[in-house]
Amino acid sequence: MSTITTDILIIGAGLAGLSAANDLQQAGHQVLVIDKGRGLGGRLAGRRIGEATFDHGAQFMTAREPRFKAAVADWIAAGVAEEWYSSYPGQPNGHPRYRGVPTMTAVAKHLAIGLNIMRSTRVATIAQQHNGWLAALDNGDTVSAQRLLITSPVPQTLTLLEGIEIPADKQARLEHIEYESCIAVMAILDGPTAIEAPGAIALEDGPIAWISDNLQKGVSKIPAVTIHGSGEFSADNLDHDRMEIGQQLIDAAGPYLGDAQVTEYQVHGWRYSKPSIVDPDPCLLLSDATDLPPLAVAGDAFAGPRFEGAVQSGWAAAKMLMDASG
Ligand SMILES: Cc1cc2nc3c(=O)[nH]c(=O)nc-3n(C[C@H](O)[C@H](O)[C@H](O)COP(=O)(O)OP(=O)(O)OC[C@H]3O[C@@H](n4cnc5c(N)ncnc54)[C@H](O)[C@@H]3O)c2cc1C
Repeated sequence: MSTITTDILIIGAGLAGLSAANDLQQAGHQVLVIDKGRGLGGRLAGRRIGEATFDHGAQFMTAREPRFKAAVADWIAAGVAEEWYSSYPGQPNGHPRYRGVPTMTAVAKHLAIGLNIMRSTRVATIAQQHNGWLAALDNGDTVSAQRLLITSPVPQTLTLLEGIEIPADKQARLEHIEYESCIAVMAILDGPTAIEAPGAIALEDGPIAWISDNLQKGVSKIPAVTIHGSGEFSADNLDHDRMEIGQQLIDAAGPYLGDAQVTEYQVHGWRYSKPSIVDPDPCLLLSDATDLPPLAVAGDAFAGPRFEGAVQSGWAAAKMLMDASG
């Protein structure tokens, strides 16, 4: 058992955590990022099954704000993103949709370059220690940090915050945030789908919210679809037998698969997929006007329930932590 010392500890190597870490490190701070996942990127998730490759979390990003647009341009120049489409049948004049290359996680891997990241390690508890924070890790080690940023989905953040006296109004704001669930099916097919270019369909009614053709998208070498259950269907079925629920979604997707048959599939359940109730601020400094050492929370529940929002929230939290007196 050992204690690691850092200036700033960031819990979560998703978009918010990685974006904050980049700004803080560039400003000269010593930063350690810890994530319980094996891969980087959190809800930007990719999976391989045999020869097939899937994006099974976020499917694309849109870009609205100038700094984020510039970041997307950098990622395109670095070869880790490209425009996927800006319109598809029934939706002629949308914003450009960008995708990661070869998968969405490529952007997270790019953001992680040069950062100090500990993976496959869960922060089990956090506690105040003198003028800083002490995080206990599930491997028995501890991390001592002057400042702390938590970027997990907010219900998980609230569990980590148990026992820490944060202001009641901020506690209430965190408790107000809600997320949709999403059941994601990754299915390999024996032939091409019936989905028109660019290989994506968003549905308003029924059990399916979204289908991606990973072959047309350029993610997979062989025919493979990602099917996302709707928020309602996913919430109702999240705790049921995953393969059975996956089969129901495959059956419902039948008309879009054409003559292709599913040869193999896996199912992933996202309990916290996209926030449905968000906070109006881009991040929260929970330690503000308290005796607590600097403590901030960030993620897509703050600056907007999407890829861009998570990045913006990370940037906002970095600025706030730099300004917070330690
Ligand atoms: C199925 C699905 C489809 C989506 N589609 C789109 C889309 O098409 N377009 C779009 O813009 N957005 C989409 N999103 C939303 C987008 O993925 C998120 O907004 C964004 O990735 C959130 O980033 P984040 O950094 O806030 O959180 P996360 O990515 O959740 O990162 C938090 C990280 O914290 C880690 N963590 C949690 N607790 C601990 C702990 N105790 N110790 C250590 N690590 C911990 C987690 O492992 C995770 O990596 C989708 C999301 C899902 C799930």
